[in-house]
Amino acid sequence: MKKILTILLSCSALSLHAQIQNDDVYELTEMYRANLRNEIFIPDVDGYKALKCDFHTHTIFSDGKVWPNIRVTEAWQDGLDAVAITDHIEYRPNKEILKGDLNESYKIAKKAGDAMGFMVIKGVEITRSKPLGHINALFINDAMPMDVEDPLVAIDEALKQGAFIMWNHPGWPDDKSTFYPVHEELIKAGKIHGLEVFNHIEYYPVTFDWAKKHNLAFMSNSDIHDPIHVTYGIANDIRPMTIVLAHERSVESIKEALFAKRSIAYFNGELAGKSEHLKGLLKASVKVHLINEKHAQITNISDIPFKLTIGDNLYTIPARKSIMLPIPNQDGFTVQNCHIGHGQKLTVYASDFGF
Ligand SMILES: [Zn+2]
Ligand SMILES: [Zn+2]
Repeated sequence: MKKILTILLSCSALSLHAQIQNDDVYELTEMYRANLRNEIFIPDVDGYKALKCDFHTHTIFSDGKVWPNIRVTEAWQDGLDAVAITDHIEYRPNKEILKGDLNESYKIAKKAGDAMGFMVIKGVEITRSKPLGHINALFINDAMPMDVEDPLVAIDEALKQGAFIMWNHPGWPDDKSTFYPVHEELIKAGKIHGLEVFNHIEYYPVTFDWAKKHNLAFMSNSDIHDPIHVTYGIANDIRPMTIVLAHERSVESIKEALFAKRSIAYFNGELAGKSEHLKGLLKASVKVHLINEKHAQITNISDIPFKLTIGDNLYTIPARKSIMLPIPNQDGFTVQNCHIGHGQKLTVYASDFGF
């Protein structure tokens, strides 16, 4: 009996460090990190959930370098709420060695997403040279009808399926952000709904004005081709994302929010969007506690840092920290990392915070 007890004790002591599979193999399960996620806290904004999404990714089914399920794991690990798989329709260098049609990459990603409780959105990238450029059709049912000669017909096919249409990277590949007549016509006809003001590692300041003028959703996406950390490094804290202000955590709700243009582009600590959304995000994130007539303690409860100027002084309110600041006069303060137009920043007043 004593001997059995000793064996049991030694087994339980060992199991603190390793799961014993058999006498020959000790598996160190704590070394498995695929199940670790970086949480990004953004509070609800005006009653909406702030969902973190990437609406532009590629897999090996077009010119990406990874299998579709890896896109889902990456997005989950990086703290996102949803990812869209948007392989090129027209550019599929691996198609000779892969089975399946234009819907295959989504099918594989969706299966992985369902297993993890993670939202996967079905999309495609309709790929042409400028002037039209590249267009993502999101929330589609079937990609096959979009495999046609005329890209305007492809857009119409996507629209028939209720797709949300995003104009991708307007400043790529010629380093010129040009608003062509074809975009004017499509927007006028209600056939473009969102604008990718940030893509991969670049943004297009003039597009902030276009999104505002034409009431398009502000969007920021990775357009990732390599494994995500090959591009953004191992710290996984700078991945660009579109913050969607949704009624609830569901694909349908994300779609509704995008068509209602409730979104904010977030990249490298910068935010771009409509002033009401940015102001809502700031007010939800920043809590003000008056110390006396001249000073207030500002606490940022979110994981988004804010940079603001009061008079000539620049202050940073880091994520999840407090700072003591002078109360601004009637001129208010400018939030330097909140872009509401080309060269235009959000201005907020003390009265917005109720003092
Ligand atoms: Zn593209
Ligand atoms: Zn792309």
